[in-house]
Amino acid sequence: MASPALLMRVVASAYSVAEKAATIVRNVMSAGDLGIVEKAGPNDLQTKADRLVQMSICASLARKFPKVTIIGEEELPTDDVTEDLIEDGHCEEILKKPCPAQYTGIKEEELVIWVDPLDGTKEYTEGLLDHVTVLIGIAYGGKAIAGVINQPYYNYEAGANAVLGRTIWGVLGMGAFGFQLTEAPAGKHIVVTTRSHSNALVNECITALNPDHVIRVGGAGNKVIQLIEGKASAYVFASPGCKKWDTCAPEAILHAVGGKITDIRGNSFQYNKEVKHMNSAGVLATLRNYDYYASRIPNTVKESLVP
Ligand code: AMP
Ligand code: MG
Ligand code: MG
Repeated sequence: MASPALLMRVVASAYSVAEKAATIVRNVMSAGDLGIVEKAGPNDLQTKADRLVQMSICASLARKFPKVTIIGEEELPTDDVTEDLIEDGHCEEILKKPCPAQYTGIKEEELVIWVDPLDGTKEYTEGLLDHVTVLIGIAYGGKAIAGVINQPYYNYEAGANAVLGRTIWGVLGMGAFGFQLTEAPAGKHIVVTTRSHSNALVNECITALNPDHVIRVGGAGNKVIQLIEGKASAYVFASPGCKKWDTCAPEAILHAVGGKITDIRGNSFQYNKEVKHMNSAGVLATLRNYDYYASRIPNTVKESLVP
């Protein structure tokens, strides 16, 4: 048999690398010293887990795929990464799946990997552990085409016998796996939004949508999981703050199951390596009924957000 296509090898490795990352996230928490550093301010934090996980993911993937561009959230000194942080395994089950035909010819230098080592850091520091995800998004031709989301504390309130953590992955043209796709309650408008980065515009936009219910939770990865598991019908964030590494993996998974994510003005995100990191015009995402929500975003809100 011919060797698996590059894309499938990258996804299969990203899966194992994300599982190693989850172990690091849990170990740092149980060791008790989070080593919190403020980046732009008190709502923009970095912990020892963010640092170690980014080193682990980036070094592990770079070693296997040296010509791929890898962009991680954290600015870290380029010290040598210790061997204990390297993961060289891959998920066999993913490697066995056929690569969608349109991606079989991709070369290493054409891929860009966007890494959010720990999404929902603020919530991690506050003990809201199931908000936390590890995000590895894979882009080609400026588009998010594959992604891995690991949720290190999935099931953490389900008791000692429950398996802790899970890995969701997906590829455009193939679908997404590791969870049960579930529709949100019919006829109900449930909006999920930020918990720790609200402002007047964020709230004005949500009020204008007149939702039946608003869920405020941390993490872009976590909010897209709420969409694909039917907990919420729209993810609405009318503010800058979210970056390309927050949206790349969630976008690939959401699009792989027929959903849609754009900025608040309806523009799709680009993920080529030269792109600006900030999603300045916010986020609007749904599994179904995108047009319903898009058509109800006030023009005043759209005009306040410049891409
Ligand atoms: P949230 O929905 O608040 O959890 O935000 C989703 C992602 O965007 C997280 O990675 C946040 O750190 C990031 N983010 C959103 N707003 C801001 C902000 N005002 N400053 C820094 N990061 C932000
Ligand atoms: Mg993030
Ligand atoms: Mg992060």
